[in-house]
Amino acid sequence: MGGEMGDEASTPRVQVGVIGAGPAGLSAAYILSKNDVGTVVLEMGDQVGGISRTVVRDGFRFDLGGHRFFTKDQEVEDLFREVLGDEIIWVDRSSKIFYHDKYFDYPLKPANALLGMGIGTTIKCLADYGAVKVKNLYRKPEIVSLEDWVSNEFGHELFRHFFKAYTEKGWGIDCNRICAEWAAQRIKGLSLRVAVKDALFPSKNGKVKTLIDRFMYPRLGIGRISENLAERVEERGNQVRLRQRVAAVNHEGDRVVSLTIQSGDGEYELAVDEVVSSMPLTELVAAMRPAAPDDVLEAARSLRYRDLITVNLMIDKPRVTDQTWIYIHDPSITLGRIHEPRNWSPEMAPPGKSSLVAEYFCFAGGEVWNMDDADLIDLTVGDLDRRLHFLRREDVIDAFVVRIPKAYPMYELGYERPLKKVLDYVDGFGNLQIVGRYGTYKYNNMDHSMKTGMLAALNIMGEDHDISRVNVEQEYHEEKSVDE
Ligand SMILES: Cc1cc2nc3c(=O)[nH]c(=O)nc-3n(C[C@H](O)[C@H](O)[C@H](O)COP(=O)(O)OP(=O)(O)OC[C@H]3O[C@@H](n4cnc5c(N)ncnc54)[C@H](O)[C@@H]3O)c2cc1C
Repeated sequence: MGGEMGDEASTPRVQVGVIGAGPAGLSAAYILSKNDVGTVVLEMGDQVGGISRTVVRDGFRFDLGGHRFFTKDQEVEDLFREVLGDEIIWVDRSSKIFYHDKYFDYPLKPANALLGMGIGTTIKCLADYGAVKVKNLYRKPEIVSLEDWVSNEFGHELFRHFFKAYTEKGWGIDCNRICAEWAAQRIKGLSLRVAVKDALFPSKNGKVKTLIDRFMYPRLGIGRISENLAERVEERGNQVRLRQRVAAVNHEGDRVVSLTIQSGDGEYELAVDEVVSSMPLTELVAAMRPAAPDDVLEAARSLRYRDLITVNLMIDKPRVTDQTWIYIHDPSITLGRIHEPRNWSPEMAPPGKSSLVAEYFCFAGGEVWNMDDADLIDLTVGDLDRRLHFLRREDVIDAFVVRIPKAYPMYELGYERPLKKVLDYVDGFGNLQIVGRYGTYKYNNMDHSMKTGMLAALNIMGEDHDISRVNVEQEYHEEKSVDE
C-alpha cells in the first residue's frame, strides 16, 4: 500500500475507482481484482480498515470500539474465511450493563435483574407492561418515535429504566426524536429487549434462544479483515493508495468521468469508467462537479451523523475485567461503553499487560469532542478508578485518543424524505454505486458493508443486484444481540 505518486502523473485510465479502503470498498476491490478488473482504491487515511481498523501502539492493538464479526450471509462468511484463514478465533461473549451503580448480567438473568432493580420497580414494570397490553386491545396508538415504539412494546417504566438513558447517550437526542423505524429494525432484535423480557417473563426453557454466545474474530484485531483484503488486491496487480482524498467527482451528463484527488504531493485527476463510493453519502453529493442541484445539497446537509471518540488505555496488569463489552447506562458517567481487547484475543496486548477502550458517543464540534486529549484521558481513568473500580491510576502505562467522525448515521424523525432525495440524485448516475455504512447512510454492520461492496463489483461485471436491499431482512436483526 503505497500512496506512491509514480503512476498518477500520466492520469492512466483505470476501469474502476473505489473511494475508501474500509470493508465495503475493499470487498468490492477484492472481487474485482479476483476477476482481473483494473481497480484503484483511494483512501484518505494512512491505513486501511476505516471504522473497522485496528490501531497498533507499542505492541498493544486497539479496535475503534469492539467489533465482532457476525453474518447470516453465506457468501460474506465465505469471503471472511477465505481472506482470514487460520487467523480466525472464536470468542465467548460475556457482557454487563452498569446502571444505578450496579452491574446487571447481559443478557439479564431473572434473579440478577430482580435483585438489581428491586422488587418495587419490578412490580411497577410488570404492572405497566400489563396495562399497555390491555390498552392496546382497545386502541392502537400512533407510533412515530422510538419512545412510542418501546413504550408501546414494553411499557413506559421499562422504557425509562432500560432504554432511555443508554439510547439517549448513544444518539445525543431525546428518544422522542428518534425514528420508530430504527427501533423496529434494531431494538426488535436487541438482546436488551429480549433479555429484559426474558428476565421478567422467562420462557419455558429459560433460555434466550436468539442470543449469540460466541462470535468470530481475527486474532490480531478486526482491522485484519481490511488488511488482508488490501494485500490480495495488490497481489493481483491493483492499487490501494493511502493518503489520497477524493475531493471532487466530475461528471458529464449522467456519467462520472473522473475523480479529483488530493494527496500530500498536490492534486491530480484520475479518469474512471466506474466508481464505487464508500465515502459519506452527504460528502459525495457535495463533491459532485458540476454541483448537485440546491435542493439535493440542502437535503444532504440536513442528514446528521453521531460521532465517536475512543480513549485507549495501556495497562500494567494482566487483566482488568472478564467481560467482552460493558455498557455504561448510567447518565452520570460520560463514557458509553468499554471493552478489554485481551478478552477478545490474548494477542491484542503484550504478555502480562492489558488494555481498555472507552467509547464516547458525541457530536463533532461539541463539548466532549472538543475536550483536550489529556482531559479526556483524565476523565476516563477517573471514572474507571472511582466509579467502576476497574483500575488504579498508577496501573495506566500510557493512553491515546482517537476521534472518529460520522460513526453512526442518525435516523432522526423526518430523515427519510431528504435521504430519498439524495439517493434519487445519486441513482441518476449510471456508473456510480454507493456502498458501505456512511456511504449509503444506513446503519450497516461490517457484513452488510462487505456485501454491498461485493454486489457493486458483481454489478460492474454485468450482474444486476439491488444494493439497497442489503440489511433490510428482519431475521438478521432478530439474531443480533449487541447494539453495535
Ligand atoms: C463503535 C462501533 C462498533 C461497531 N461494531 C461492529 C461490530 O461489532 N460488528 C460489525 O459487523 N460492525 C460493527 N460496526 C460497524 C462497522 O464499523 C461498519 O459497518 C464498517 O466499518 C463500515 O465499512 P465501510 O467500508 O462502509 O466504511 P468505513 O469503515 O467507514 O470506511 C470508509 C473509508 O472511506 C474513507 N474515506 C472517506 N471519505 C473519503 C474521501 N473523500 N476520499 C478517500 N477516502 C475516503 C475513510 O477514511 C474510510 O477509511 C461498528 C461501528 C462502530 C462505530
